[in-house]
Amino acid sequence: MSDALLTVAGLATGYGDLRAVWDVSFEARPGQVTALLGRNGSGKTTTLRAVAGLNPVHGGELVYDGRPLASVPAHARVKLGISYVQEGKRVFREQSVQENLLLGGYSLGLRRRALEGELDRIHELFPILREKRDSPAGALSGGQQQMVAIGQALMARPRLLMLDEPSGGLAPSVVAEVMARVSELKASGLAIVLVEQAVEAAVEVADHVTVIDVGKVVVSSPVAEIDDLERIKDACMGR
Ligand code: ATP
Repeated sequence: MSDALLTVAGLATGYGDLRAVWDVSFEARPGQVTALLGRNGSGKTTTLRAVAGLNPVHGGELVYDGRPLASVPAHARVKLGISYVQEGKRVFREQSVQENLLLGGYSLGLRRRALEGELDRIHELFPILREKRDSPAGALSGGQQQMVAIGQALMARPRLLMLDEPSGGLAPSVVAEVMARVSELKASGLAIVLVEQAVEAAVEVADHVTVIDVGKVVVSSPVAEIDDLERIKDACMGR
């Protein structure tokens, strides 16, 4: 029996009737990172959006915690423990860091005491967010804003965390810091799906790598079995 929390099998999806993903399969397991790699426009974001319930499923299967997801609306998926951090720094720039984090918990209707417990947990993971709690989120550095976005997703107490290019636009030293946090989150038992352009950084933290090209899987391999990273990089460039 599979111990996957999420199974994506032969997924076809897109925007309305427009097909952008034809055949994508992968799993997400508790305490592991599945990296979805591939060049721009290959269908990674579209795939995550389908799992989050933001894009329609045209074919194939999404199974989460043993149940089919296709007919579950997006807001109900959040309550089931599926959190999606979209590409780019999606923080409310004028709102304080604290307000941004609290927004992530409101979706669950958590009571104040529960919210405070979650905040403590997130402050432990990202001490800088405690330090900057009263600053407008827009005043933080790019890496810190990414941490606010991840912290906001964590407030919903996910079991499955999907991160869409958390390294996007960040300096290499900051990418390393973000990946170190991803590693800690994985150690805490979260199932993580990580979409990345930064192949080396992603492989460093991942347990399984799936490369997508033109909406189809072209490589799927446990990281432990990858002996030639260049092959993965070539696949990510469509070669
Ligand atoms: P990137 O790294 O650029 O985010 P990606 O692998 O995440 O790339 P997607 O964003 O999933 O790729 O795009 C897959 C395909 O879907 C592309 O052909 C893209 O042009 C198309 N697409 C993306 N967003 C939309 C949209 N809102 N409406 C229609 N087509 C879209």
